[in-house]
Amino acid sequence: MSGRGRTGGGARGQTGGSRGGGRRGCKGARQPLSQQRPGTLRKRLAGSAGTKGTIRGAERAGGKRGAPPPTNKVPPRTPSTVINPRRPKPSERNHKQLGGIGAWESRPLAKYAAEVFRRLHTLYPNAYCELDYTSPWQLIVATVLSAQCTDKRVNLVTPALFAVYPTPAALAAAQQSHVEEIIKSTGFFRNKAKAIIGLAGAVHSLHHGEVPPRMADLITLPGVGRKTANVILGNAFAINDGVVVDTHVARLSHRIGLTFQKDPLRIEQDLMVLFPRKDWTMLAHLLIWHGRRICEARRPRCPECPLADICPSSLIA
Ligand code: SF4
Repeated sequence: MSGRGRTGGGARGQTGGSRGGGRRGCKGARQPLSQQRPGTLRKRLAGSAGTKGTIRGAERAGGKRGAPPPTNKVPPRTPSTVINPRRPKPSERNHKQLGGIGAWESRPLAKYAAEVFRRLHTLYPNAYCELDYTSPWQLIVATVLSAQCTDKRVNLVTPALFAVYPTPAALAAAQQSHVEEIIKSTGFFRNKAKAIIGLAGAVHSLHHGEVPPRMADLITLPGVGRKTANVILGNAFAINDGVVVDTHVARLSHRIGLTFQKDPLRIEQDLMVLFPRKDWTMLAHLLIWHGRRICEARRPRCPECPLADICPSSLIA
């Protein structure tokens, strides 16, 4: 009996060693469960159950307490360097899209852009801002009034406005209802009257009645965004600080294939990368003139367009 028992025990031990100990052989043979101390199995089972329990517990905790509550809101943009240091900075992004920093100069897109500029400049060699003005102050007021309105209509209204209110101080003290009456035909006249009176007050009180020739100052004025500031800097001060992106510039930049962006600020960034700084003001004039005369919003007249053979949106086969 004892001999059979020893033999049987040995066989079980060897079998157990070859099954489990084979894999864990480097740590030595493990005792069969039947020979381990009574608490060991309980501890091992409790340990593994505890691990699973901990993971599930953490998942549950993560779902309920640790993680933020689900929301449909798009998280606000934060500086890219904080979230992902490998993401290009906003100033580098356009270079990246065009093939990497410095690479854009040799890219066909830059050559194409230069050819577009050359052809449009040949067509409109004397393109200019079509709003009438004699001073930066008059131009900034006319630009605010030109929102959702034609330049021709604004030019019909501004002489009467500047005859009654020639300076920022005079307009700042004006009755809103009277200003509304004068500018009524430009549309959105209540908002525009309020905007130009507020603008006049800020220019009068903060800048001694003079329109400041700096982007940083201009965009702090009420009703003045980057587009208006670029109009003032480029035309009243001959400073190329950016590209005016209005409805015509945005539409033509897409049609001609100069950008795929929709946000005006990003369109402006793409154009600033593609064209030399000295051409930024003229570029806006050329695109605006072309958009008004040939590449109209609803009916582009491609057969008359000098870009018809290179434009990706050309209707000419
Ligand atoms: S070819 Fe046609 S779509 Fe292209 S810029 Fe000229 S008018 Fe516009």
